[in-house]
Amino acid sequence: MDNLTFIREAFSKFYNENIDRIEVPKSIGSREFGFTMFREGVMVRHKGFINPEDLKEFIKKNVPSNVYYSAAYYSVPEAKMDEKGWLGSDLFFDIDADHIPTKCDKKHDTWTCRGCGFKGRGEAPEKCPSCSGESFDEKTWLCEVCLETARNETIKLVDMLMDDLGFSPKEIKCSFSGHRGYHVQVESEYILNLDSNARKEIVDYVTGTGIDAVFHGLEEIGDGKTVFLAGPSLNDAGWRGRAARGVYEFLLTATDIDLKKLGLKKKVVERILANRDEILASWKVNGPWNMIEGLGLEGWRKIINYGVTFQSAKIDTVVTSDVHRLIRLPGTLHGKTGLLKISFPISRIEDFDPLREALAFKSGEVEVYVDEAPAFRLGDDVFGPFEKQKAVLPLSAVILLLCKNAARVIDQHV
Ligand SMILES: [Zn+2]
Ligand SMILES: [Zn+2]
Repeated sequence: MDNLTFIREAFSKFYNENIDRIEVPKSIGSREFGFTMFREGVMVRHKGFINPEDLKEFIKKNVPSNVYYSAAYYSVPEAKMDEKGWLGSDLFFDIDADHIPTKCDKKHDTWTCRGCGFKGRGEAPEKCPSCSGESFDEKTWLCEVCLETARNETIKLVDMLMDDLGFSPKEIKCSFSGHRGYHVQVESEYILNLDSNARKEIVDYVTGTGIDAVFHGLEEIGDGKTVFLAGPSLNDAGWRGRAARGVYEFLLTATDIDLKKLGLKKKVVERILANRDEILASWKVNGPWNMIEGLGLEGWRKIINYGVTFQSAKIDTVVTSDVHRLIRLPGTLHGKTGLLKISFPISRIEDFDPLREALAFKSGEVEVYVDEAPAFRLGDDVFGPFEKQKAVLPLSAVILLLCKNAARVIDQHV
């Protein structure tokens, strides 16, 4: 049996037994649905369903590799894009390891140039070093470090949505994407009608774009003879406090190289490092603004503006401003992993374990031949690393490897 048939049969069995795990979106009749199919590989979109049962029957019957629905509400979801009659859209954020620089991508991600076959590790370059081609086949892997990084970005985002933008926990829905990240969705009458530009402003806010220390509390105070610096405090509201906390976080571990990269003078860098403990302690009082000889407004401005990057949320900016975006439906399987997109209350964001709770296939073992795969965990078990070898594995691990095109089935029983 080929890989696609095997995966499709497993997906089919899952949907037949678990169709009620699908989270039917609010106002289903106003949403556009889209699907990718195993064989065709193309996206079928502009589908509409009047009631949940029709959607569930469609999924059971067609067994799509991916299921999506629109963040937007339309008068006629099945019409062509410009004739749908846009009524509004939920606010949506995508936090994916693809958009966050991690050091481990060199360990588990590879790319191959489509032009000349040149291979490399980590994120694909803009141009192939061998033939200057710009098209690559990329193989990414989901790893715990990447998922943990994505979780931290999600926590920062949710914090801003509640503390700074005033949404209530009830309006915010978090989910694991089923692959390398998290989704955050806000359903609120206040954002429903925001256009793309307004959503871009929200993007700028949560990514800290254009935040400058001189507009957030950093200033010179004095009568001309004696000049003091004042700056943001850790507990200030909004970006003031975030910027201060970012500086604190940065200076906690900053090295000589980190500080020099900001363009600070050698002597100043030495003084900062020599006074690290005093600087950190000073936040309890008035902050470190006047402690370091030779470090004035412009120097602190550089440090604070860099501190902002520690507090900003690394979201996929395109997704949030797109008011026609299709989103993976919670309770459905991800075609690149066989893991569930699964939503959870924001109170669980710290302890939610995606590699346990998103497992869809809980029974059966299958023998596979694995080409190559890094070590990975599912539930309590760690598998691999594998290289050109046979292995008998639980179905969830098998489906993941097959979806990643890293293995083929030897034993044919699902
Ligand atoms: Zn090439
Ligand atoms: Zn990783």
